[in-house]
Amino acid sequence: MRKENVIKRMKEVEETESVEITCNRCGKTKTADKLDFVRDGFHEFLATFGYGSSFDLEYWSFDLCENCLVDIVKTFKYVPKGFRIDQQYPLVKDESKEHQALFDDWKNGKEWDEFRYKSEEELNDLRCLFDDGYIDEVIAKRKEGEMLID
Ligand SMILES: [Zn+2]
Repeated sequence: MRKENVIKRMKEVEETESVEITCNRCGKTKTADKLDFVRDGFHEFLATFGYGSSFDLEYWSFDLCENCLVDIVKTFKYVPKGFRIDQQYPLVKDESKEHQALFDDWKNGKEWDEFRYKSEEELNDLRCLFDDGYIDEVIAKRKEGEMLID
């Protein structure tokens, strides 16, 4: 968000007790507390257009609820940067082939499983982040799955 828009937004927020947020796509609304900058479940998008664009001198702003945002992201060919990646403990490298493969699986209805493309060695390396029992379970489930395929 541009600095002047942030300032404008902060003034709007200061002047009102609460802010009504409406999803531009589906119309779902939410009344957010004036200090709720997270906008719980809603996201604001901004687009500015420059010289050469047929929308030159226009400035668009809209809100989307998370359901609509997910529906739109499902139409993407390429995985958005940061999508389903825990910023504190990233198990998948952002925008890697693995990230894209997981995204494609998810678009095809599979559950998001960041362990899916990990080798047993890579899973063992994750023992520093996860409980041993949990990693053992993931490895055992994978072996069960392999036996079912054979
Ligand atoms: Zn919506």
